[in-house]
Amino acid sequence: MEGVDHLAHERNKSEFDVDAMKVVWAGSPHAFDVCDRISKLVASDPGFRKDNRSTLSRKELFKNTLRKAAYAWKTIVDLHLSEEEAAKLRFYVDEPAFTDLHWGMFIPAIKGQGTEEQQQKWLPLAYKMQIIGCYAQTELGHGSNVQGLETTATFDPQTDEFIIHSPTLTSSKWWPGGLGKVATHAIVYARLIVGGREHGVNGFIVQLRSLEDHSPLPGITVGDIGMKFGNGAYNTMDNGVLRFDHVRIPRNQMLMRVSQVTCEGKYEQSDVPRQLVYGTMVYVRQTIVADASCALSRAVCIATRYSAVRRQFGSQNGGPETQVIDYKTQQSRLFPLLASAYAFRFIGEWLKWLYADVTQRLQANDFSTLPEAHACTAGLKSLTTTATAVTITESINLETMLCGLAIFGGVPVSTRPDTGAGSVQDSLEEEETWTKIIVVVGADRFVVVVGADRFVVVVEHMVAFEERIIAGGRSPSEKESLPVEDKSLEERLVEFHCQHLRRG
Ligand SMILES: Cc1cc2nc3c(=O)[nH]c(=O)nc-3n(C[C@H](O)[C@H](O)[C@H](O)COP(=O)(O)OP(=O)(O)OC[C@H]3O[C@@H](n4cnc5c(N)ncnc54)[C@H](O)[C@@H]3O)c2cc1C
Repeated sequence: MEGVDHLAHERNKSEFDVDAMKVVWAGSPHAFDVCDRISKLVASDPGFRKDNRSTLSRKELFKNTLRKAAYAWKTIVDLHLSEEEAAKLRFYVDEPAFTDLHWGMFIPAIKGQGTEEQQQKWLPLAYKMQIIGCYAQTELGHGSNVQGLETTATFDPQTDEFIIHSPTLTSSKWWPGGLGKVATHAIVYARLIVGGREHGVNGFIVQLRSLEDHSPLPGITVGDIGMKFGNGAYNTMDNGVLRFDHVRIPRNQMLMRVSQVTCEGKYEQSDVPRQLVYGTMVYVRQTIVADASCALSRAVCIATRYSAVRRQFGSQNGGPETQVIDYKTQQSRLFPLLASAYAFRFIGEWLKWLYADVTQRLQANDFSTLPEAHACTAGLKSLTTTATAVTITESINLETMLCGLAIFGGVPVSTRPDTGAGSVQDSLEEEETWTKIIVVVGADRFVVVVGADRFVVVVEHMVAFEERIIAGGRSPSEKESLPVEDKSLEERLVEFHCQHLRRG
């Protein structure tokens, strides 16, 4: 078997320019160059090996993650990698780790919700990893319902401090990644109480562990919540639990871009909308969409390649059997997923643009597109992660449909069980999928109902629309014929896809 390229024949039959498609997939020639260089760097370095991930114990896995994170940091520094290259390196290391929350939520929260002075103080420490941050929002009692959080932050004008406290068992922070073992600091969301009055939920920068010996600071109880399912998926992450017993922090550690508390104990709200407090979530959702597209592409790639090399039935006169990919039933299952992988990839790129655009506008105090960004990221996060999780878990359960059990599905080395577990957890992370749908339904311009069985329908609409758009556009009656709840999201998906095709 070794040395035989079973895919060469299929590849030679390709009717499109594969090199051009690589660039389209990457986003630009520059992005392709970065991806190409950094992926080769990671693949060729034994320090980043991942083939043993599914067989290590939780403790070994976690030690391995710490070692890899340190090694990745050393590589980034030694090779003077740019921020873009460093992000790609972490992407190709491909192992959920405390660094994801540090770079993905802690830093963006300070950037988005902190004042200029707070950014100047905290960001250099975070960029050099002299402090390691996590994002402590969810509690045992409340996840999706952020307004229900119970942790309190009470202002004490005598000492110019906030007192952070967990008044009930259900107010214990529960789930934050990086919290269980590693983080020295957290963005903690708590009910702001000033002069006996409550002013809603706000973020605070709280130090959790000593920078000398890493022990928890007085009044802080912190630990790891334990095993999660999918060995190589999320057990590399130290999701944690956290309680506060009247922990005091300086007043200037409240993130004050949206609202401020003066040293006299006066609460002031700026004209910046309160939704900005959740701006970090908008950022994270767009990264989760990108992650879902990667997970789906990986799974579909494995299934497609396998279908091309696997031969079953149909031998004529002792000749070779038929390639599985040539069966219409296999194509009808596989190709919509392949199309979804491309569509999700383009959606991820568009959301990246949308987030950059919104961030630029916010800096100029233009908040007009924030509701749209909130709704688009929330809806598309639900759609893409649900579709991905369903696809991968289904293909693991029903292996004989796409790959055949003997070769890939049940074997951890195929990475599909872990990819599946990871994408299910992605769909739960940050806000559970169905509550995201409610967020979207509540938003002005988006009335979308999406669900596990809908994504194939979306793709079908996309293909049909695309053909009509390329042929000269849609009539108003065609627009009206879509069920109202489908229109917004599906049309938007079609537009992305067509824009990409036109550009390409
Ligand atoms: C792998 C992973 C990593 C995570 N990392 C972090 C982290 O770093 N930091 C952090 O703060 N949190 C983190 N979380 C927590 C995550 O944000 C929450 O789990 C998520 O917000 C959902 O909250 P919940 O679990 O309390 O579910 P709930 O809000 O209690 O929802 C439970 C169920 O009820 C349904 N439901 C809730 N409200 C409604 C409604 N109004 N109408 C209809 N149905 C409803 C939901 O859809 C869901 O099915 C993580 C979670 C996971 C799984």
